[in-house]
Amino acid sequence: MKRLSDIGTIKEILTKHGFTFSKALGQNFLVNPSVCPRMAALSGAKAGVGVLEIGPGIGVLTNELCQLADKVVAVELDKRLLPVLDETLAEYDNVKIVNADVLELDLNALIAEEFPGMEVVVCANLPYYITSPVIMKLLEDKLPVSAITVMVQKEAAQRICAGVGTRESGAVTVAVNYYAKPQLLFSVSAGSFMPAPKVDSAVIRLDVYEKPPVQCDGKAFFRVVKAAFSQRRKVISNSLSAGLGMDKASVAALLEKAGVPANARAEKLSLDDFAALASCMSEVSA
Ligand code: SAM
Repeated sequence: MKRLSDIGTIKEILTKHGFTFSKALGQNFLVNPSVCPRMAALSGAKAGVGVLEIGPGIGVLTNELCQLADKVVAVELDKRLLPVLDETLAEYDNVKIVNADVLELDLNALIAEEFPGMEVVVCANLPYYITSPVIMKLLEDKLPVSAITVMVQKEAAQRICAGVGTRESGAVTVAVNYYAKPQLLFSVSAGSFMPAPKVDSAVIRLDVYEKPPVQCDGKAFFRVVKAAFSQRRKVISNSLSAGLGMDKASVAALLEKAGVPANARAEKLSLDDFAALASCMSEVSA
């Protein structure tokens, strides 16, 4: 049988179905045969495990996942890909395609229905126009998944995987680290895709915590993180004052209570610092 990840085979299938790429849907399909097997193997897909995939495209990664996992459910928004997937995944009876927008779906309900009693992982080459919203939805919805392995733009991968408290960190670094332990697995050149995007990509894996590594009210934690990074070049006293709408004296009291220096910058704070600020916020504003 022809290899699905072979560029000649892919072109043949796309021509046969008269398929044209949609830029708006972030359609850059993988055509490097070494990437999908590696990504699938590192995602934790194996016997006994169910995989949720987002955006299967023509099914190159799906194909690898079906070979490793007990069951694969792939959410694809573009209707035009359904007949293509019917053909490319015809040999598997452990796959289901759901035609929907992943951002609109109740993923907890989908997982409960499709993977009862199974360990579940997520594996996806994400459409880049919705990378952050998808990752945050996967984490914030508190899905019963043990790991999330996704291909994202290299810059986004570096930002997410920069340690909390480093120069390269941002609000997304702190947010992801609240829910999971991120690691950068490997880089993928722009030439591995058709059409080739302007930037390189990378595969990251997020190992999801059963409970957050810091104890505080989650809502307050994210309010503080958002405010702290809203003006990342400013010292924390100024960015919190502007971002939380608090007067300078209250912010000074908050910082002192939380043990955070008033002249620190958001990128220098630890998860514990953000948690302390979140916990002390209600006391200071009370
Ligand atoms: N997995 C394929 C691959 O690696 O070659 C395709 C990846 S391509 C970067 C992203 C895929 O996500 C496309 O198939 C696109 O149609 C689909 N997609 C875009 N927006 C989506 C959404 N909101 N919900 C579900 N799928 C979406």
